[in-house]
Amino acid sequence: MNQQTIDRIQSLLLSDVTLRSRQDIEASYPPRGLAADAIVTRSAPSPTGFLHIGTIYMCLLNQYLARQTGGVYMLRIEDTDKKREITDGIAQIVAALNAFDLVPDEGVKADGSSYGAYGPYLQSQRRELYLSYAVDLLQKGRAYPCFATKEELDASYTAQQAAKVRPGYYGKWALWRDRSDQEIAAQLDAGMPFVLRFKSNGSHDKRVGFDDVLKGHLELPENDLDVPLIKADGSQLPTYHLAHVVDDYLMKTTFVLRGDEWLPSTPLHIELCDALGIPRYSYAHFAPISIMDSNGGGKRKLSKRKDPEADVQYWLNQGYPIEGIKPYLLGLADSSFEDWYRANPNKPLADFRISLKKLSASRAPLLDTAKLDDYTKEYIASLPIEEFEAELKHSTNKAFRAALNNADKQYLTAVLSIERFGDKRRKDIAKWSDGPDQYGYFFDELYEADFAPQIGALLEAFDTTTLTDVCKAFFATYDPDDDQPTWFEKLKKAATVTGFATDNKAFKADPNAFKGNVADFAKILRVKLTGKDRTPDLYTIMQVMGIKRVKARLQVL
Ligand code: GLU
Repeated sequence: MNQQTIDRIQSLLLSDVTLRSRQDIEASYPPRGLAADAIVTRSAPSPTGFLHIGTIYMCLLNQYLARQTGGVYMLRIEDTDKKREITDGIAQIVAALNAFDLVPDEGVKADGSSYGAYGPYLQSQRRELYLSYAVDLLQKGRAYPCFATKEELDASYTAQQAAKVRPGYYGKWALWRDRSDQEIAAQLDAGMPFVLRFKSNGSHDKRVGFDDVLKGHLELPENDLDVPLIKADGSQLPTYHLAHVVDDYLMKTTFVLRGDEWLPSTPLHIELCDALGIPRYSYAHFAPISIMDSNGGGKRKLSKRKDPEADVQYWLNQGYPIEGIKPYLLGLADSSFEDWYRANPNKPLADFRISLKKLSASRAPLLDTAKLDDYTKEYIASLPIEEFEAELKHSTNKAFRAALNNADKQYLTAVLSIERFGDKRRKDIAKWSDGPDQYGYFFDELYEADFAPQIGALLEAFDTTTLTDVCKAFFATYDPDDDQPTWFEKLKKAATVTGFATDNKAFKADPNAFKGNVADFAKILRVKLTGKDRTPDLYTIMQVMGIKRVKARLQVL
């Protein structure tokens, strides 16, 4: 292109912004003056949909790596795809980071305004910067306008398929790479829109090497794609490629931690840095969180479309406590976390140091709900009873909330205290939505409505006479003042009287001689009392329920 064409393209690119010299721009982003080993990280989500659990994972890693080295953790919102942007996308990201205690040192607030000296951190507000760098490439002969229509690009792709060659806009397939000034002028005269493309000097047959912080030394084919730098959609916003290279340079990011889906683009980003005379970045490509496919497809990346678990809100809606999700995510990143967590139950999570070695070993960390449940159960079990009660009272289940609020204070405390202290702490609540199922039966209205209806099915193996006999025989000897061993001795006696075996050997030897064993006898009482076949210790339940309630539920009239 001759200078006249270049200048004409430049003035179109800068139609509504003023060109700033790189010198001027770079002077306003001075060195950060941090220690040499301080890590400056950034998370760069796009506000284009629900918040992915992977974004929280990435922010967590960024926050830890920055904090533990005395660095800075930034949030940059990549809102250059205006078509895909959702309403409240930014506010959602910011709210989730607040909730997870992952507030960045510098970044964007819910209203889109920036805080921090290296902003703005909202890409749509950085347009003049990108355009200034794009113009720099244009003036250096490393960018050119492309007027190819969608149909022309599709036709080129079809031809590449027919010729069995690598698809993409490169070499002789780069339709506007070597056009004459006249051809370009004709398009401009006709007012045709254009994409500004990078002019790659790379060769796919050569390799470019770089040291990935997590994956080690890698050699990938050089970039030879003339990728778009500035979009033609009228927004004059940059593509991710240009925005990433410019932003991380100006914001002084020392460590680009990003999903490994960007690995194939890294040679392009290296070439862009070289073309702009920007030092190459230190990249850390991490494996995305995976899931076991429920249809037997093996381990695969969590999919935004297929897996509700990918959405952070899915976990929050069910009442998973953030304080339990966070340690789980740390454990996914660094396998030594679990031991540290057990050894330091009272230390703040912020004291843990993530090791990059461990992180690199954690290839495609697997989202394992059972394991997550272990963490959240542990957390909920560790809460002081007042906090536990307050959280349960926030239940989204209206009837349960009402039952808790109307309950006698002493009764409620006794209920919630069951197996909450000492070594044998009860760990059956993984999320707050488990509350009604685990505690509802203590409250008569809920017992009648939700639990009693299950009794028939749970005890269908026994006939009605047996059920009545069991309840009567037990209640005849029941004394709430008995200690547990005495209670159990009496229970065994009642079992014998009603034809249940108390000697397991005898039962095994001839099961038909009995109505069941002592566990079956206890099960009948348990189910009658609670509408469930798995509950905390039966003796304690009776103690807490009180004799009147026990009698009513065993229907011993
Ligand atoms: N906006 C990009 C994404 O959401 C950011 C990638 C990066 O961290 O550089 O994938």
